[in-house]
Amino acid sequence: MDSHSRAARQAPPRTSGAAGGGEAVVAAGTDRRLVSAPSPTTSPVATPLPDGQQLSAAPGAPGAAHDVAVEVLRHGPLPRSQLARRLGLSAGSLTRLSKPLIASGLLVEAPPAADPETRRPTRPLDVPADRHRFVGVDLSADRAWGVLTDLRAQVLAREDAPLPDRSPAAVADATARLVTSLAGRAGGTGAVEEVGVTLDGYVDPSGVVRRALSLGWSTPVDLTATLTDRLGRRVVVGNGMHAFTQTEHWFGEGRATTSFAALAVGAGIGYGLVMHDAVVETPDTALHLLSHLPLDGSGPRCPVGHRGCASSLLTLPALEAAARLALGRPTTAEELLTRAAAGDPAAQVVVDDAARHLGTLVAAVASFTMVERILLTGDAAAVATVGRAALAEGVHAARDPEASAVDLVVRSDDSSVWGRGAAGMAVQAYVSGPEWLALEAAEAG
Ligand SMILES: [Zn+2]
Repeated sequence: MDSHSRAARQAPPRTSGAAGGGEAVVAAGTDRRLVSAPSPTTSPVATPLPDGQQLSAAPGAPGAAHDVAVEVLRHGPLPRSQLARRLGLSAGSLTRLSKPLIASGLLVEAPPAADPETRRPTRPLDVPADRHRFVGVDLSADRAWGVLTDLRAQVLAREDAPLPDRSPAAVADATARLVTSLAGRAGGTGAVEEVGVTLDGYVDPSGVVRRALSLGWSTPVDLTATLTDRLGRRVVVGNGMHAFTQTEHWFGEGRATTSFAALAVGAGIGYGLVMHDAVVETPDTALHLLSHLPLDGSGPRCPVGHRGCASSLLTLPALEAAARLALGRPTTAEELLTRAAAGDPAAQVVVDDAARHLGTLVAAVASFTMVERILLTGDAAAVATVGRAALAEGVHAARDPEASAVDLVVRSDDSSVWGRGAAGMAVQAYVSGPEWLALEAAEAG
């Protein structure tokens, strides 16, 4: 089985049928929302600023027209009245800013609809996301996981390939081949605007990989330069958890929030944070900072020697060690979760134990950061659904009774989750640069 540093890609246990009822769990497609009480929906309305000035949605963006385009990309189609309000613009300013964007084709007018506020007919503004292609590749310890997406990081195709070994040359070679193959489905690498590549490690601002835990790289590797040369396209390389958080913030579960946390429990524990509508990033964000948070003073020891830290209780190896003790034989985490979901009481005890500790961790994230929503993913994320009652106990035991309900969304891992994160990172790099506006203008001219 492939082992991913953040979330090994086992097939997630099929728990939807076995998870049972309970008002705390609301199934929504592949997601399962665990909400201890209805949570107020938060409207991401920007604070109105003097006309023509906004908080820039994308660092380095060339101005207000760009902010309009990004807002429509993230939230469109949007009626003009709503768009103007979100950006703190007057109707006149919005018309002035959007006119050249419509003329160039960057924005399009969607079919007429009734404005939900004024009830008058309006033509909402949208971005033709299907005109652009991106490739995202996430590198795990022994496989490259790729997707082809549009400008909204919608997955159009997926493909993966083994890494023959972990040397930088072999990894770059396998990545380039996978990108070329996926780009072939879009009409060749020339049809792809930008390529995103992620891994579990720290990539410095110049694109040099300083360390990559799952690949065993401890000396700098300029993967960005190697792949850019090889592919003849712009390539952005980054940390996988950061890219996943960025992509969910723009196009996924974090889209309607300005503060949001992502937790991944699998082979390790990944953590990403969005505050004030921007992803928090420091060199330490590549370090799995929550792995060693103490959760239970009587728990087992982690490889570093802490007793009862998050990694000693919640990762796949931790679940497997606990399962072996309880069931008396080697048991994979997948088997443990499947057995518990099928009603095996011994397996359920192990899962409930982990779920209670996961609840403590979720409560800590919610209380420290006060985010509006927490997204949980990774191969061990099913602990939250199979052990949902114990998870809720863990959350409640560690939260002030007066505190708001924790809006926790659980998403089963699948083979496209991390590649989509890499593609979303490439989308953000592309639209944050001047090329997006310039390209559309050139096409129109
Ligand atoms: Zn530890």
